[in-house]
Amino acid sequence: MAIATTNPATGEVVKTFEALTDAELEDRLERSHQAFLTYRHTSFTDRAGWMRAVADLLDAEAQPIAELMTLEMGKTIKAAKAEVGKCAAGCRYYAEHAERMMAGHDVDAGAVKAERAYVRWEPIGPVLAVMPWNFPLWQAFRFAAPALMAGNVGLLKHASNVPQTALLMEELFRRAGFPDDVFQTLLIGSGSVERVLRDRRVAAATLTGSGPAGQSVAAIAGDEIKPTVLELGGSDPFVVMPSADLERAAQVAATARCQNNGQSCIAAKRFIVHTDVAERFEQLFADALRALVLGDPTDDATDVGPLATESGRDDVEELVQDAIDKGATVVVGGERPDRPGWYYPPTLLTGVTKDMRMFYEEVFGPVAQLHVVPDLDAALEIANDTEFGLGSNAWTDDPAEQERFARELQAGMVFINGMTASYPELPFGGIKTSGYGRELAELGMHEFCSAKTVWVGAGQAPSTAHVE
Ligand code: NAP
Repeated sequence: MAIATTNPATGEVVKTFEALTDAELEDRLERSHQAFLTYRHTSFTDRAGWMRAVADLLDAEAQPIAELMTLEMGKTIKAAKAEVGKCAAGCRYYAEHAERMMAGHDVDAGAVKAERAYVRWEPIGPVLAVMPWNFPLWQAFRFAAPALMAGNVGLLKHASNVPQTALLMEELFRRAGFPDDVFQTLLIGSGSVERVLRDRRVAAATLTGSGPAGQSVAAIAGDEIKPTVLELGGSDPFVVMPSADLERAAQVAATARCQNNGQSCIAAKRFIVHTDVAERFEQLFADALRALVLGDPTDDATDVGPLATESGRDDVEELVQDAIDKGATVVVGGERPDRPGWYYPPTLLTGVTKDMRMFYEEVFGPVAQLHVVPDLDAALEIANDTEFGLGSNAWTDDPAEQERFARELQAGMVFINGMTASYPELPFGGIKTSGYGRELAELGMHEFCSAKTVWVGAGQAPSTAHVE
């Protein structure tokens, strides 16, 4: 894929970039290694000061940064501004909490025959982040803020269609005062990821993106015995039970499906509704989808802009056509509008069956499928009948049902009476083919740290029971 900014609202190629040469890449890797050797010894106070300065820059320059994201991948301007604000908040969160998260802990010294024993968290080195275009700033910041606060240094290989946002990130960290090369953007194609990951100076990798990209990176990292975090695709269920507030559930359902023009890994994609409320919910949901304004993403009134790439739009269209050909019913949308750019409208389908591709495949666009079920067991069966396990949503006011959904939904995250979202305070990640490891919260911070065991004794040998 060419490294270029192409406006999804018009199809116009705005700016193209050359990938780094081999020599330039080698130079970047060495600089990253050298930066780590000194940066790892900086204080939490210094790191927090720089991180807060990044947050201040994001706040001060929110409008042009948001406009750049909208230009590169078609996100609506209001969503883009919200994303910039979320990144600033994430930076401040880790600036405030990193020292506590990295503090380590003492272990009962007597139990291990020591004078003192403790675990200390340490950074591990340059971490490669292979990132997607859909939340071009937030995806990269939710890696970078905890990683840098822990004392690691970052190497960002961003998606090839958001090069300017990627370069802007490097610039922000530099302007905020972080030492040179602590955060670098590598303008490289996906074909160069292997070289970076196999380099002995690179300690670990995190990838957010599609399953095939995750498989490739995990295989190489496994071969090199390097830790990875994978955040891959999702096809989140959104279950609605009779006790739910249907009006609110339908409004949230429309947002959950169409946020980011339908291109979110944690977008609710499969709507599973109890038969007693199915007719009413379908009507409310359809109305909420019809009310969304499709149009120019730079316009503040727009709710749904174009899809980020032409091939992404074509994939969505194919999945919808496949379902229609096999007998699904279109309740809303279902037809590409006749206008330039890669638009696809909010769409609702009923009668989706297992032989249709979208039953099992992720639809990365504003297309919802609605299933009607007789009871909670049947809802769980459809919800869990997927290779994915990222987020999940259940709407019910019955505490016993809430408990069952929390226990039995096979997903990394369960949101009851709401929609899946990411917060710096909550671990984020999936199970099954949605990936492994966690981002955010303390768990996310520790993914790229070493838990070093320190035992301080008085020179005695352990008993044979404790050797090895
Ligand atoms: P993608 O094609 O996998 O691209 C993601 C990143 O991986 C890009 O930087 C891409 O580089 C790189 N890449 C692609 N193939 C690679 C390979 N074989 N080896 C190494 N790197 C490779 O995914 P996408 O289409 O941009 O994003 C959509 C997918 O991401 C969806 O499945 C979505 O659900 C998932 N996603 C998951 C999360 C989560 O947190 N779980 C969040 C957002 C998105 P190039 O751009 O240069 O190809």
